[in-house]
Amino acid sequence: PTLPGDAPCRVTVDLDAISHNVEVLQRYAGDAAVMAVVKGDAYGHGLVPSARAALRGGAHWLGVAQLQEAFALRSAGITAPVLSWLHAPGVDFAAAVRQRIDIGVPAIWELDAVAAAAREVGETARVQLKVDTGLGRNGAYGADWPALVEAAARHVADGTLTVTGVFTHFAFADAPHHPTVQAQQVKFADAVHDCERAGFALEVRHMSNSAATLTTPRAAYDMVRPGLAVYGLSPVPDIGGPSRFDLVPAMQVSANITVVKRVPKGQGVSYGHTYVTPRETTLIDVPCGYADGVPRSGSSVGPVLVGGQRHTVAGRVCMDQFVVDVGDLTVQAGDEVVLFGSGAHGEPTAQDWAEATGTISYEIVTRMSSRLPRVYL
Ligand code: PLP
Repeated sequence: PTLPGDAPCRVTVDLDAISHNVEVLQRYAGDAAVMAVVKGDAYGHGLVPSARAALRGGAHWLGVAQLQEAFALRSAGITAPVLSWLHAPGVDFAAAVRQRIDIGVPAIWELDAVAAAAREVGETARVQLKVDTGLGRNGAYGADWPALVEAAARHVADGTLTVTGVFTHFAFADAPHHPTVQAQQVKFADAVHDCERAGFALEVRHMSNSAATLTTPRAAYDMVRPGLAVYGLSPVPDIGGPSRFDLVPAMQVSANITVVKRVPKGQGVSYGHTYVTPRETTLIDVPCGYADGVPRSGSSVGPVLVGGQRHTVAGRVCMDQFVVDVGDLTVQAGDEVVLFGSGAHGEPTAQDWAEATGTISYEIVTRMSSRLPRVYL
């Protein structure tokens, strides 16, 4: 692709891959709707273009963590239903009500704040109750759950709220046989029952992230809530990579070589000389560093594709660049180095970088910084 401005490295996003992945997820979801999770700048892929691609692929809902992400979708003219689920006191619930954003509510303080905002705006707020069925994170837990349902019922009765959904999140969706997967479904069934008994006009009941969508179809209820798989990455690498599920990774990160040099045996490379050339060799400088989101833990281990060959980062990843020892490969300044992509052309994948650096592919794609322009195919 042509370089936007003078950016020496970039994120290229295959939007058709995102649409395709949503179609695949819809097949796994059966009759349930797909909510494409686009939080975290669509896992680094770019919020609005990715959201549109997901909607083109058949997603009915969009999911975000923060209201500012939901507002950005609305500002871009996206009218699809949006659920936002992580809020601290002081956020602008009135704007959320005005923009018809479904507000995921795990606690009574939030329910009351949303109800107050709805009264201020003079409209009925749409809320979805979030129950902690065992993740031990955000969600109403234990006795707080029936109290939340009761408080919601009061607000529904006075016309400030409508409860459009109930949802929860798995702790071990990536280990489908873990006992908590079954136990959380049992608890969720009880929570759904509590909402139905309270007379809520639920539109959606949902619990499945990517891993559950792909491996635990019975948990789909009315909607699934995948994120990672929308971007073509496998949430269950131990079970299989993207192709096992017909998913296509959408993100590629590539850069253009700035400097090529021939050096003798014994040359220390990058800060601290943690790599020393074992023989006369060619070093290339790749203009992409930890300010771009390349993990510093990729020092000496991060894989790249250059000139059709796989090589490894030599020495430390710096803020804006790293070095690769390419041996006797013939390359020149301007040639492309691929850090990761779909793997279809021999390049490493985000999962390869995750394994090399001791993290998960979620973190690899999400951490690619705003300095890298997003180029859309
Ligand atoms: N639902 C909730 C509440 C989440 O926090 C997330 C992301 O962590 C998702 C769904 C999507 O998860 P995944 O990317 O594993 O599909």
